[in-house]
Amino acid sequence: MLADLHVHTTASDGTESPAEVVARASSIGLAALAIADHDTLEGIMPAVEEGRLRKVEVIPAIELGTEYNGKEIHLLGYLIDINDSVLQEELGFFRNTRRDRVGRIINRLSRLGFPVTRERVMEIAGSGSVGRPHIARAMVETGRVATVEEAFDRYISEGKPGFEPRVKCSPAQGVGIIRRAGGVPVLAHPGLADADDLIKALIPGGLAGIEVYHPGHTPKMVSHYLEVCGRHGLVATGGSDYHGMENRKHNLLGACTVQYRVVGLLKELAAKSRAATGRGQGGTC
Ligand code: AMP
Ligand code: FE
Ligand code: FE
Ligand code: ZN
Repeated sequence: MLADLHVHTTASDGTESPAEVVARASSIGLAALAIADHDTLEGIMPAVEEGRLRKVEVIPAIELGTEYNGKEIHLLGYLIDINDSVLQEELGFFRNTRRDRVGRIINRLSRLGFPVTRERVMEIAGSGSVGRPHIARAMVETGRVATVEEAFDRYISEGKPGFEPRVKCSPAQGVGIIRRAGGVPVLAHPGLADADDLIKALIPGGLAGIEVYHPGHTPKMVSHYLEVCGRHGLVATGGSDYHGMENRKHNLLGACTVQYRVVGLLKELAAKSRAATGRGQGGTC
């Protein structure tokens, strides 16, 4: 019984729809997967519905990009209440800032000679959250770069001439957003960010886990973060960070997984957190 707890769909920058991702999860025998799109909950219900048909449990999740000392720190929020209106408003704010940023990146690209339009990028992105991968796909369409990777490597990665930063909150604020919405905050792929000092600082605010198993982590990082989890009583999660099969450097769905009992731990933590904050208790009508 395995669970892949980090999966993207077309709701953000993945290339497979929620139903397609769930079908693929079923075909490789996963018991559960967490839909963790960037700044949007749009993929979750379609995945849940497909999961009911295919007997794959879909865990609602979110991935937030935050910033600490100039470093990009990603947070996963498991089992957030997807109907929470404050959470929806907060995510809507981040999606708006993403849209504004597309305009700024396109201005830079047009100065670099790329005939990429905002309309085309938004068409590629669809109704969920837009990101640089959508811009990169529009750049490939112009024929001036051959692949999404080339678009990133030469033009839109940080430090390259087409780059513009995104509006981000602090990791502590991100933990707060997730907790307030009844979710379980987990530090995503910390090995990619080198900000271990953050872990201890985020625990009092509710950080409950670390994504220990991730395709970008070396075996040494995995043992290091397992040790950190043990030391601080944090749950060790894992997932593939699947974005689809289109990129050359893609991770396969199920490339990193955890035992299903980790899902049980996350559910216990969410229930405890909801009880402590009074959420879901003492309903009135
Ligand atoms: P954004 O959210 O707009 O800042 O874009 C970040 C997203 O771009 C990440 O979540 C990845 O999905 C993708 N990405 C980042 N670097 C690369 C790269 N070098 N090649 C392809 N995709 C990338
Ligand atoms: Fe992504
Ligand atoms: Fe991430
Ligand atoms: Zn991710």
